[in-house]
Amino acid sequence: MWTQTAIDELCERVPVVKDIAGQKETVWINPGRLPFAAAMQGSPLTMADVEDAAARLDRFAAYFLKACPETRAAGGRLESPLQAVPHMQAALEERYGAPVFGKLLIKLDSHLPVSGSIKARGGIYEVLKTAEDIALANGLLAPGDSYEKFDTEDLRSLFSRYRVAVGSTGNLGLSIGIMSAKLGFDVTVHMSADARQWKKDMLRSKGAKVVEYDADYSVAVKQGRREAENDPFCHFVDDENSQTLFLGYSVAALRLRDQLAAAGIPVDAVHPLFVYLPCGVGGGPGGVAFGLKQVFGDAVHCFFAEPVQSCCMMLGMATGLHDRICVQDLGLDNKTAADGLAVGRASSFVGGVMAPHLGGCYSLTDARMSALLALLADTEGLYLEPSALAGAYGPVLLQKDPGMREYLRQLSVRPEDVTQLIWATGGSMVPKEDMERYYRAGKAALSGGEPA
Ligand SMILES: *Cc1c(COP(=O)(O)O)cnc(C)c1O
Repeated sequence: MWTQTAIDELCERVPVVKDIAGQKETVWINPGRLPFAAAMQGSPLTMADVEDAAARLDRFAAYFLKACPETRAAGGRLESPLQAVPHMQAALEERYGAPVFGKLLIKLDSHLPVSGSIKARGGIYEVLKTAEDIALANGLLAPGDSYEKFDTEDLRSLFSRYRVAVGSTGNLGLSIGIMSAKLGFDVTVHMSADARQWKKDMLRSKGAKVVEYDADYSVAVKQGRREAENDPFCHFVDDENSQTLFLGYSVAALRLRDQLAAAGIPVDAVHPLFVYLPCGVGGGPGGVAFGLKQVFGDAVHCFFAEPVQSCCMMLGMATGLHDRICVQDLGLDNKTAADGLAVGRASSFVGGVMAPHLGGCYSLTDARMSALLALLADTEGLYLEPSALAGAYGPVLLQKDPGMREYLRQLSVRPEDVTQLIWATGGSMVPKEDMERYYRAGKAALSGGEPA
């Protein structure tokens, strides 16, 4: 535990901690960011790892074509649309009284096939890799085989002897649970108290076991990890430390590169790309951002967005303490309507890998995320879950926040040449009634509840 004296000393050493403890919306610009080439010195992962993950997903395309008809249009890939949001851009400018520079885009991971959130990248990838490893080890798959095989009784019966376990605030559980059950694994999802009822119901309907906890994310993860210990037939998906999850997320960058190229949008020294990613424990945004750095190097600038009550990555990064401090140590309660981001202690693995790459972090209130949810729905007809809106405030901050403005000024580019990308992380599977509640709360926030 932290004594008040220790916290006071920390605030002295790292001033942003005071704002975090004071539950203020905060922007932290990463003073440890390095030029890309220098940032890669000693990196435990490289572009080769990202490409290896992409190749694995491409091997599984034959399986998805057969087992998941909704992936057919994309050739068996799980991918989401990239689109411009000019009406949202105009609405942001009007509402916040600040220009939103350049071109504003949104990446709709909210609409990824199979599980409807960014977790369909990392989570599904880790299940697939586990399945591939087991099939190879048991001689039921040989290099060069068509992965259609994964949709057969032979393999389902093999996987039924294995267990998969995961701890989750909801969406990771959905991805792991749905994919594992589909392949035939015996899967258990340990759900934190934040997890929405419909996610638990959906998982059970797909054949996953759900264990509910009256506690937060870290407790659910700990239980999952404990259950898997000493069981060689149980694979635990470790959201806090998994390199496999991280690499699954990172493949998004290769796909985005192609989508930007197809749209004729340049990303280079004079056309920088700013990307705003909602952050919970860090694996999703970290993996995507790491991939983006491999693809675009110094031309891409990644910022993580977190709820004021759960800004664990900002706290871990700014103090350099990573997982040796949590938001509860500062008296925050880690309670947020953005259930996908309700994490009090950041991944130290992600913090370490991203420390030299990350542009910075910002935090925002639940009321603001809620208002942005309604604004996006009203302007673009896109209905997302609250967590997915955390990134939507970044384009405003780039002009409004003095630290962000200075960051941009130092790039010596014309503001109109910037491309800004909101990474929308979830929402397409939210039931109608839940979405109506989110929307109504958002309309209320738009007409009064949002901070200035
Ligand atoms: C999980 C999640 C995130 C953040 O991912 P982490 O890996 O926890 O940082 C963001 N948005 C949504 C909707 C999520 O489910």
